[in-house]
Amino acid sequence: LVELGLDVSVEAGLGAAIHFDDAAYREAGASVTDDRAAALDAADTAVVVRPPAAEEAATLRRGAALVGLLDPFNRRDLLDALAKAGATGLALELIPRTTLAQKMDALSSQASLAGYVAVILAAERIDRVFPMMITPAGTLAPARVFVVGAGVAGLQAIATARRLGARVEAYDTRPAVAEQVQSLGARFVAIDVGETGQTKDGYAKALTEDQLERQRLAMARHCAQADVVITTAQVFGRPAPRIVTAAMLAGMRPGSVAIDLAVESGGNVEGSAPDREVEVGGVRVVGLANLPGRVAADASRMLAANAAALLEHAWDREAKAFRWDGDDDIVQGCRVTLGGEIVHPALRPDGRKEG
Ligand code: NAD
Repeated sequence: LVELGLDVSVEAGLGAAIHFDDAAYREAGASVTDDRAAALDAADTAVVVRPPAAEEAATLRRGAALVGLLDPFNRRDLLDALAKAGATGLALELIPRTTLAQKMDALSSQASLAGYVAVILAAERIDRVFPMMITPAGTLAPARVFVVGAGVAGLQAIATARRLGARVEAYDTRPAVAEQVQSLGARFVAIDVGETGQTKDGYAKALTEDQLERQRLAMARHCAQADVVITTAQVFGRPAPRIVTAAMLAGMRPGSVAIDLAVESGGNVEGSAPDREVEVGGVRVVGLANLPGRVAADASRMLAANAAALLEHAWDREAKAFRWDGDDDIVQGCRVTLGGEIVHPALRPDGRKEG
């Protein structure tokens, strides 16, 4: 951003948790400030990781932009505050899934880290080893891992579990992913739940309650055989589907582990709750939130690259200004407020959520 000719300031202590001290930001050409309120007030563009409080967004200048993971489907108060302030909100969650926009896709960058961390957590929590071990004291069979939802996080979980030597099965409602699952050396579990489909952005459509019940029935056996179940099933803009029931957990071996990556959007596993680990009939249900935060240096590196790519894309070198108000596909795709209004079709009060 400094190379683009921008005047950048960062909040003091911003990188402390990942061992970047303030001096490193100064060396990169930014100024460091203790006065967050004044910096927000002065900013043409504010870049955040998590959505700010609505009161803080309300202090942005008219025409200023807020870029970050803004949780737009759950933070109507923030959207209202941005609109009222006349600020432009750009939610990284809504970056279109096109080739050009891939480097700005924060959901994908963070999901792949979450998929990796889920397996590392499972390996640490489980009471046995992942790889097959042939030793003089006997042969240990490889651990069995069942991954539910084979999107970005799920595929990374499969790859990580395979690298550790586990036997992996996976299921997704989008049959298109079967080949990707198999190419990672895992078995794709085929379950016929009837018509499923996906949105133009490649997201799953919500299943009916009847379809979900058919899915659960078919999946129970695969859960029962697994030492580790990792769930990553999400339906964009909606609460996550409840997939693993208490009865399915009861069918699992005591000592096995279920990791719920969808815990922050409602949870795929019955009884999981954000930042809670509970034992249900000897099965450890792990619902830790913010898994990318457990590999914070890399999460930061990727999120910074995503946000910087969007800023660079919108920067008009000649006018020396960001083009947040134009009809560029990527900007339009993630723009939630503009000129005093909520403008994203999926978020307008009269709009319909896709899927
Ligand atoms: P996501 O986080 O919304 O959902 C995770 C997975 O859960 C998805 O694969 C979804 O199909 C699955 N799911 C939903 N309901 C389910 C259910 N009841 N049971 C089992 N699985 C269920 O999705 P995501 O990981 O962000 O990505 C979805 C797809 O988009 C992926 O195939 C990915 O390759 C694609 N993608 C494309 C681009 C691009 O072209 N630029 C970028 C990122 C992702």
